[in-house]
Amino acid sequence: MLKAHGLSVTSVRLAMLGVLDGHAHADAEAIFNAVFKEIATTSKQAIYNNLHTLVAHGLIREIKPKGLSCLYELRVGDNHHHIVCRSCGKVVDTDCVVGARPCLKPKDHHNFQIDEAEVTFWGLCPSCQE
Ligand SMILES: [Zn+2]
Ligand SMILES: [Zn+2]
Repeated sequence: MLKAHGLSVTSVRLAMLGVLDGHAHADAEAIFNAVFKEIATTSKQAIYNNLHTLVAHGLIREIKPKGLSCLYELRVGDNHHHIVCRSCGKVVDTDCVVGARPCLKPKDHHNFQIDEAEVTFWGLCPSCQE
């Protein structure tokens, strides 16, 4: 993945992608903690810089549900949406019904060329309903 995007392959980047492979919607803190266990020489700044690079190259996706930190995931390019629990902040993926961007069109587009509709569903997860 890294080579295909013209990025150098570093142990920190590989470790970060490994973390996201096992844990979608992790925040920078969680990614740092997991990478730090493998590579004790890494820093939070290195993680932030690499997250920025990986997002800019489209290898990972960044989402920012209201009230939560930025979350990162490997699932890119499929225009999936998220369901967020209002109570505990749990985030899950839900497929886009249409499958391509923008899956919603505003009533009045004000002459904008619309290319994306960011949809976040909010509610209570099964454990918070109890
Ligand atoms: Zn919950
Ligand atoms: Zn997702």
